[in-house]
Amino acid sequence: DKTINKIAAGEVVERPASVVKELVENSIDAGATKIEVEILAGGTSFMRVTDNGKGMSREDAELAILRHATSKIREAGDLSTVGTLGFRGEALPTIAAVSRFRMKTREAGADLGTQVEIYGGKTPDIRETGTSLGTTIQVEDLFFNTPARKKFLKTNHTEGARINDFIVKLALSHPEIAFRFLNNNKMALLTPGNGSLYDTVKAIYGAHVADASLALSFANEAEGIRIEGFITKPSMLKSSRAWQTLIVNGRIVESRALSKAIDNAYKSLVPKNGFPLAVLVLTVPPRTVDVNVHPQKIEMKFEDEGLLFKAVYKAVLDAVRPAQD
Ligand code: ADP
Ligand code: MG
Repeated sequence: DKTINKIAAGEVVERPASVVKELVENSIDAGATKIEVEILAGGTSFMRVTDNGKGMSREDAELAILRHATSKIREAGDLSTVGTLGFRGEALPTIAAVSRFRMKTREAGADLGTQVEIYGGKTPDIRETGTSLGTTIQVEDLFFNTPARKKFLKTNHTEGARINDFIVKLALSHPEIAFRFLNNNKMALLTPGNGSLYDTVKAIYGAHVADASLALSFANEAEGIRIEGFITKPSMLKSSRAWQTLIVNGRIVESRALSKAIDNAYKSLVPKNGFPLAVLVLTVPPRTVDVNVHPQKIEMKFEDEGLLFKAVYKAVLDAVRPAQD
């Protein structure tokens, strides 16, 4: 029902960056190895996500725009162990309810693809179309029919920066996917997608950062905890934590506790102001984390936060201490 979609839009779609998040996560779930994101005016007038994932049949495409039409849960029991990023089946219809939405998709083996156009949640226009393998979703004039929500947005520059920050973190959490991000027709990010975190860090932050980075490598086999990644040397400090990315079991996470572990360990060795640039990739037993959180929140609940705190602390110490001697 259209009213439900508009209400739900406030939950899933708060700003352009939330749209990009939902679309790109779908592309990742679809097995894409190349994802391109284009935005104009901070995403408020135009966003387009193009992937080379598995695409959809006409039936799948029709289903995808219905509420709760997720293809990612086979039974309720799956909810607790769900491995894919999406599991609610409401992103596409809610986005389409508050924008001019156009999707083109084609799966392998099909000569023709499907185009679905939806204007502010109205009846979809569905037709056959020629299109490349995979899915392209274009979202124009976000919130054109919900002025109250539109008013709540920040400047185009700020909204665009949020999208940029999100894509940086996504690209870091998926070195095996080649990301391209075009912001107002300018190439803002381009990663190789060759699986190397180091090459991805270099592509995003530049060679000067990659050269100043120390590799992290920590394992607590008994607890099933592993940490890999990079942290910059004391010669390369930043004024904020914005350059720190935490990835837990493939998900981008914000955790005050783990950020504090990075800072505390670093400060214990380097008596300087500022924060290192860091990318920490943690692997923990799936049953020890709770990922069933609100769509907008990326705080993850840990069964034993203290244990992870110690692991991160140790990983940072081990990486930075040798560089101090
Ligand atoms: P969810 O991701 O929670 O399943 P969405 O509304 O985001 O719900 O997507 C609905 C469905 O549409 C997905 O389950 C998937 O089957 C399909 N879908 C969406 N985006 C893509 C894509 N880029 N490639 C292939 N299938 C997609
Ligand atoms: Mg989804």
